[in-house]
Amino acid sequence: MHFDLLVRNGTLVTPNGSEAADVGILRGRIAAIGSLSSASAGTVIDATGLHVLPGLIDSHVHLREPGNEAVETIETGTKGAVLGGVACVFDMPNTSPAITDTARLDWKRAHIAGRAWCDMGFYVGAAKSNIAELGSLEAEANVCAIKVFAGSSTGDLLVEDDASLEAVMQGGRRRIAYHSEDEYRLQQRRKMFADGGPHLRHMEWRDVETAFLGTRRLMAIARKTHRRAHILHVSTAEELDYLKDFRDLATVELLVNHLTQVAPEAYETLGGYAVMNPPIRDRRHYEAAWAAIRDGSVDTIGSDHAPHSREAKERPWPATAAGLTGVQTIVPVMLDHVNAGRLTLARLVDLMGAGPARVFGLLRKGRLAAGYDGDLTLVDMRARRRIEAAKMAAPCGWTPFDGTEVQGWPVATVVRGNVVMRDDALVGTPAGRPAIFEETRAG
Ligand SMILES: [Zn+2]
Repeated sequence: MHFDLLVRNGTLVTPNGSEAADVGILRGRIAAIGSLSSASAGTVIDATGLHVLPGLIDSHVHLREPGNEAVETIETGTKGAVLGGVACVFDMPNTSPAITDTARLDWKRAHIAGRAWCDMGFYVGAAKSNIAELGSLEAEANVCAIKVFAGSSTGDLLVEDDASLEAVMQGGRRRIAYHSEDEYRLQQRRKMFADGGPHLRHMEWRDVETAFLGTRRLMAIARKTHRRAHILHVSTAEELDYLKDFRDLATVELLVNHLTQVAPEAYETLGGYAVMNPPIRDRRHYEAAWAAIRDGSVDTIGSDHAPHSREAKERPWPATAAGLTGVQTIVPVMLDHVNAGRLTLARLVDLMGAGPARVFGLLRKGRLAAGYDGDLTLVDMRARRRIEAAKMAAPCGWTPFDGTEVQGWPVATVVRGNVVMRDDALVGTPAGRPAIFEETRAG
């Protein structure tokens, strides 16, 4: 047997569990898993002492291109991804201009060639002006989902009223991804916070009921229209409990920050660098998030990597820009949680591999299995490192985890058989391609 790439002597995390085995990749796909000691290969990696995971997927990033290349681009964002052990990202549409039609999607698909270091899926944004086209847009090649901002965040995409939301759900059939906060409650309460104040007020303005009411409204319309939903960045104990009654319709995303940071401490230590939508909340919600990871009711975790300039983050609240960097740190931060005993490595692979594949209908990624893409994330569970802002690939140059010590570190990233990161250094050239999804013209 001869392979293009052979990874020997690692501990593989496969659908069978953890097993000592080799994995051989040929022409971009996993060709064999098992004892391959007699095989040869163009490139051999000795993974003794390492865990070999399917290439991990961050299904929620904002790479800011086109429109805000000063803080992030497709090239730098995907560099950060592979340096951080992520082999595929799904990029959000709230750029400037937003990705809301076929022409802009075509531009993006062409633009990633020779720039993206990892594979990419594309969200298409719902706007009131393109509701009639959403059914055909979601079938465009390489689209992971339609994204609906039912509450306003960065950018100008917003579909907030029940009639428009119902019209969105009636066009097309794939699962829709939602930013769920109730826009009317947000706007009504904004005047109570006009005087500004400490960053903790962000959590008071965008309160539990703002998120929970948004989710109740969406689920009522989803039930009526029988349309599947993926509720992004669920941030409250109330929603996590409520959504257990909607398993036939709804899947759930949690963010690494909501599993790592707690109010009021996060706001006291990080100021504007803790401000995101939905907000970091108090310990009750943090505990509920971990309980939901343990009981299986969470499908995916993401970083919601959403860079802003330091200037925009350091404006006094409420002018502080909401959003955090994270694609380069999600894997180390989550590996540290594994080492702390909060979840297993198998559950992490479920949340960043099989989970996104199942929720979005992603083809040939998310598990180590013959015939799947040769995407690998190699991790050293014993390595102790410090996360440093100076190492971030994003032009904005900061991370809310600067100075954080973690145990567990990604040491190699492989995308369809191409080794693109070894020991914190980029290798080769940007080989990323559009990811392929079921129910699209590519799938
Ligand atoms: Zn987001």
